[in-house]
Amino acid sequence: MKFNPADKIQDLQYFGEFGGVNPSISDSSTYTFLSAKTMLDTFEGNTDGCHLYSRHTTPSNLYLGEALAAMEGTETANVSASGMGAITPVILQLAGAGEHVVSSRTIYGGTYAFLKNFIPRLGIKTTFVDITKLDIVEAAITENTKILYCEAVSNPLLEVADIKGLSALAKKYNLKLVVDNTFSPLSISPIKFGADVVIHSLTKFINGSSDTVGGVICGTQEFINNLRSVNDGASMLLGATMDSLRAASILKNMRTLHLRMKQHSYNAAFLADKFQADGLKTVYPGLASHPSHKLFKSMMNDDFGFGGMLTINVGSLEKANELMELMQRRNLGNLAVSLGFYKTLFSAPGTSTSSEIPEEEQKEMGLSDGLIRFSIGLDNDINRSYEMMKECMIEVGVL
Ligand SMILES: *Cc1c(COP(=O)(O)O)cnc(C)c1O
Repeated sequence: MKFNPADKIQDLQYFGEFGGVNPSISDSSTYTFLSAKTMLDTFEGNTDGCHLYSRHTTPSNLYLGEALAAMEGTETANVSASGMGAITPVILQLAGAGEHVVSSRTIYGGTYAFLKNFIPRLGIKTTFVDITKLDIVEAAITENTKILYCEAVSNPLLEVADIKGLSALAKKYNLKLVVDNTFSPLSISPIKFGADVVIHSLTKFINGSSDTVGGVICGTQEFINNLRSVNDGASMLLGATMDSLRAASILKNMRTLHLRMKQHSYNAAFLADKFQADGLKTVYPGLASHPSHKLFKSMMNDDFGFGGMLTINVGSLEKANELMELMQRRNLGNLAVSLGFYKTLFSAPGTSTSSEIPEEEQKEMGLSDGLIRFSIGLDNDINRSYEMMKECMIEVGVL
């Protein structure tokens, strides 16, 4: 049978403490032990099923982690307080002073800032590359390289990583391939193509209601145990722990993720087709004109489409701002960063989510001022939304 991540989530069965259809929420920061010996064993990481202290594990966090591990096809997972709270410990666990990271240059602004500005202080260097060119990626690898880092579908330019090709390089040079899959949950399963660690910002599509930040690291039991080690685990010691109440609420939202992704993808594909036909410079991995359309297609799972993210280029920041403000006044969406909400969200990445990237480098990677990034919502009648968007575009003169 074909691997379908939505089926894997559905196959998990839950009973709460009193037979509830949802697992009971754990409301404790610390846990009692009947024997002192068990407490010692738990400290040493040797006791399954016991909880020590909620920065380490909580029953609610483990339930959510289990669902995310099932979705990504990994042995286990560790949830965190935010996406950055997942990304930063992974990098710090895998690389130390004198070591080196090869990263895609088109990544989330916060990740870029961490690699570029923060970890050099700890003696870790990063080379940023065009991740779509495997020869350039390989040339950047040195004997000190430990991590190959990319996003399956990149923010904000929607470049697609050749995970199989990158994984072959990672194996050849003994690196860990770390893939941020935030833009393509369910659609792409990076583990199938050889990724070692898969990360998500749960803040986006997975939670889907823009009411919390959250993150997850999906990987082997051994790697997750290392991250949780009380002695030298980056997740445990840096302390970006998710709260149990949040974990329970994100788990409930995950039950509609497959339905939401289908609708996000359907709506985004519809708009991308229309915008392109209207003559707008449109980037969407589902369009045959996208340079990585075939690659995405070769990696995607059935049913969930090419995702909810698209960009258009309207030429200048002034036009972009004018259009976004008008669309917001007409209630077609919100001028806001982030993604995966029920409502369409739009922003100009050059001045918002990618503003950590210097202007010169933005130009080099094709990130221009007039770019608008859309996270397409769950609109019931997307043609109606399209007609109203088109009116806005005509009024501000981009069509
Ligand atoms: C938002 C985002 C992050 C960071 O996640 P937070 O939950 O905001 O910390 C990382 N990667 C990508 C691709 C994102 O979109």
